[in-house]
Amino acid sequence: MIKMNNERPVNDMTNKKTKFRMSDERRKILLVEDEIINQELMKESLSGIYDLIVTETGEEAMDVVNEQHQTLSVVILDLNLPGISGIEVLKRIKESPVLSQLPVIVMTSDDNAEVECLTLGAIDFIPKPYPATEVIRARIRRIIELSENRDILRFTERDHLTGLYNKEFFYRYVAQLDLYNSDAPADAIIFDINHFRMINERYGKDKGDKILKLVAQKALAIENEAGGIFCRSGPDTFMYYCPHLSDYESVLESLSVSVSDGERDENRIRMRMGVYSDVDKTLDIERRFDCAKMASDAVKGNLTHPIGFYDRSMRESEILAEQLIDDFRDAIREKQFAVFYQPKFNIRPDNPVLCSAEALVRWKHPKLGMISPGVFIPLFEENGLIEQLDHYVWSQAARQITVWKEKLNISLPVSVNVSRIDLYDPELESKLLKIAEEEHLNSGELMLEITESAYSEDQDQIVKKVTRLRELGFKIEMDDFGSGYSSLSMLSYMPIDALKLDMQFIRSAFKGRMDTRLLEAMIRIAEAFEVPTIAEGVETEEQVTALKRMGCDIIQGYYFSRPLPADEFEAFVREKTK
Ligand code: C2E
Ligand code: MG
Ligand code: MG
Repeated sequence: MIKMNNERPVNDMTNKKTKFRMSDERRKILLVEDEIINQELMKESLSGIYDLIVTETGEEAMDVVNEQHQTLSVVILDLNLPGISGIEVLKRIKESPVLSQLPVIVMTSDDNAEVECLTLGAIDFIPKPYPATEVIRARIRRIIELSENRDILRFTERDHLTGLYNKEFFYRYVAQLDLYNSDAPADAIIFDINHFRMINERYGKDKGDKILKLVAQKALAIENEAGGIFCRSGPDTFMYYCPHLSDYESVLESLSVSVSDGERDENRIRMRMGVYSDVDKTLDIERRFDCAKMASDAVKGNLTHPIGFYDRSMRESEILAEQLIDDFRDAIREKQFAVFYQPKFNIRPDNPVLCSAEALVRWKHPKLGMISPGVFIPLFEENGLIEQLDHYVWSQAARQITVWKEKLNISLPVSVNVSRIDLYDPELESKLLKIAEEEHLNSGELMLEITESAYSEDQDQIVKKVTRLRELGFKIEMDDFGSGYSSLSMLSYMPIDALKLDMQFIRSAFKGRMDTRLLEAMIRIAEAFEVPTIAEGVETEEQVTALKRMGCDIIQGYYFSRPLPADEFEAFVREKTK
């Protein structure tokens, strides 16, 4: 039987209307007690202050708790009940993720039950026979205050969707864990859900939220088993700080969830994991997780090896990257970047004929020596510095064409590399035209190599841009063709003047047992689109002969020459044209 006690002080409602403050609201208490005399005693102590709901059995109590847990402040629970026992009610409340935050005060005359109840999660204990009314009131008031403060803290320190800590509080608790466990080795781990945006788009946001909640539930289970703490650090990323582990695969496995309720493998959400194992505790906590992030980024897109480990070489390359970015400005000012030139030969005639050159940048770093573009170009592409560097290289190359015209009496077109970022520069055309004009070049003398991967993004815009550049007279070579970013169908609407095959085709065609079928097919494709093919990375006579037989038009590679500084290139040309 459920009874509601509605006795209120007369002025109660007026107070409510005027103040509307949480501190003035009457709290609701559930009393679970089957003995009438005890019910009456408690009512006398509490009903002037609280709204009291009284139930006489454990089953009724669970019904009320399930329906009203959000507005209940405390449950006062007798242990001796008809039907399910008070201990069982306590267990059910504390084991439920939804109800477990509800404070439960246990009443019993059995002293021995005290420890068991507190272990099960009871917040306090009222002995029978009851203490004085003031004592009961004071204890209940204190419990409500404590739990409300805790709820407020919970609200601010937790991510609302998943209930895991948010990043800010997580870092604080990690610092505390370190204080208590200063000598114990620890790991900083990051989990990223692959393609979460696609999951949201394909299955809807609700499903996406559900997946995140499921991951969080599994995270809590891992916390329980292995220790440590989790947080949700971003929309689809989680951090975990824990005692040093040995089996990372099983942790990743334990966290993995499925899109559908079934466990079918194709519906599994793929996650990757970055581990900074046995962290250096002198690093600040954010840095430790930066390291884990780097490890996770290193396995991005790698479906067979989804766990990356942070190692010293990552740290070293990160330090190098920072230094190179810092040094960039001085390097431009002090002309530390040198442009090298590598010849391209037309192999259609009986004897190969020098037909152009590619400008390739190197960095003569005052402290680090010669640095290859493979090291700094990707870095500068990431932070946009590439635009400035490319502009510098284009100007140098344009100057060089003029110098060779004057010195060698030849007009040798030079191709320059145009980065993906450059294509988004609205002033790209005018910058290139200005460079060509300054050296009185016709635009065909400065050729542009655009890497295939640039074409895979925002195709419409790139096609427009490249079309405009061609209309202005610049010749376009698609660099690294076949490296896997674009589809073949793209060729039918992509404006280009030459296809430069990715070096990998040459490598695999001539590696071990020669198999040139793919290489030949690529050359046939270029023929079908009526554009010449350029093969780069050609190193041996055997390769030249085979490529010529296959119908390749132009060759660039160590077979003819490595990229050379301008003066050496000049000597090379003199030698070839003697
Ligand atoms: P890429 O444009 O595909 O350039 C060809 C690369 O192949 C060059 O490497 C060249 O030195 C190398 N190579 C040429 N022949 C052979 C050979 O026979 N064997 C081998 N093993 N390698 C050969 P490099 O100079 O290290 O340049 C690497 C990449 O850096 C270039 O690839 C290009 O994407 C980029 N890069 C170079 N200079 C610039 C620049 O000024 N601006 C931009 N945006 N990128 C540049
Ligand atoms: Mg190139
Ligand atoms: Mg290339």
